[in-house]
Amino acid sequence: MNRAKAFSAASPTSPLASITIPRRDPTERDVEIEVLFCGLCHSDVHMVRNEWSDAMATVYPIVPGHEIVGRVTRVGSGVGTHEPGDLVGVGCLVDSDRACDACKAGLEQFCANVTLTYGSPDKHLGGVTYGGYSDCVVVDEHFVLRMPETLDPAGAAPLLCAGITTYSPLRHWGAGPGKKVGVIGLGGLGHMAVKLADAFGAHVVVFTTSVGKKDDALRLGADEVVVSRNANEMQKHLGSFDFILDTVSAVHDVNAYLNLLRVDGALTLVGAPPKPLAVSAFSLIMGRRSLSGSSIGGIAETQEMLDFCGEHGITADVEIIPIQAVNDAYERLLKSDVKYRFSIDMASLRTEQPEQSAAIGAKVG
Ligand code: NAP
Ligand code: ZN
Repeated sequence: MNRAKAFSAASPTSPLASITIPRRDPTERDVEIEVLFCGLCHSDVHMVRNEWSDAMATVYPIVPGHEIVGRVTRVGSGVGTHEPGDLVGVGCLVDSDRACDACKAGLEQFCANVTLTYGSPDKHLGGVTYGGYSDCVVVDEHFVLRMPETLDPAGAAPLLCAGITTYSPLRHWGAGPGKKVGVIGLGGLGHMAVKLADAFGAHVVVFTTSVGKKDDALRLGADEVVVSRNANEMQKHLGSFDFILDTVSAVHDVNAYLNLLRVDGALTLVGAPPKPLAVSAFSLIMGRRSLSGSSIGGIAETQEMLDFCGEHGITADVEIIPIQAVNDAYERLLKSDVKYRFSIDMASLRTEQPEQSAAIGAKVG
């Protein structure tokens, strides 16, 4: 057993602070990774503040982070896919049962026994899993992705969540040439959705509440930008979309967007507001429209997305921060004040001398 440096929150109202955490010695199937960069996802904020308590209550201390890029330092004797020195990635998943229908279909994210990168029961050490706001992670080789060496690692880290979460539904719903695709919210997920839908050849329309993001949306690959608070601009697109991807993190009026779908059009939620959204039956009945959701993506599809991004030179637009700026970054994220993802440089952990230490095998639940 090893100890790693990390940043954790002790309660929903505590700031993140320096801590040491246990990391297991690699088993024969494990890969040990020195974390170089970890993206800051809005889900980290929801979880740290226990905003999803109805669906998945947070266990404290929480070490967030599921957009991890790093270098392999050690591998177990049975590992055939990675070796020391490789640039690798870890997303939201670190284990699953690999026996159920979802796992067999490559949809590990829907496995009933999935282990999330942070906050899930830790089968090896007890307690819960600790995420990527840390200098080291140890992960089963099946859940370790190959990172294209051509991509900047700081900008590539957000691909592990924001990238796959938008790639998967865009592919599933056939975003491509001849399709009119909307993206609601130009944040971490939204800006990746724009880059990917543009690369797939779709006609991309961004819906934003931030007038100041208009030029950026066009630069990122949008063909049109709609300021969603402007009813006239919204009206022009009534009944015209094949697909809309909703990445908004807060409660909003989804009916305003359902009404923009054409007959048989589909709107997929990836944003996960803490409170329920109200849906008018008429928004769906009129036009046989569909409303669905999507969660990250399976491991094979995540590798496919990384390879696609490698071939097309696609990364997130990031602001690199030291871990010591993470609490300020959370506040800025809540004000949509980041273009368009924070990426934490984990070398900044080296100067920390944590006084707190997380217990091993702490009780879960
Ligand atoms: P983010 O960077 O904060 O982006 C969210 C964007 O939503 C903001 O930039 C803003 O865009 C818009 N927005 C925020 N508040 C709004 C409001 N009150 N009304 C309308 N629009 C608003 O967050 P993110 O990291 O992209 O994550 C987005 C959501 O997806 C979060 O809820 C996160 O937990 C969830 N998520 C889900 C999955 C999954 O697997 N389904 C994976 C990762 C994240 P504009 O300024 O352009 O309006
Ligand atoms: Zn995420």
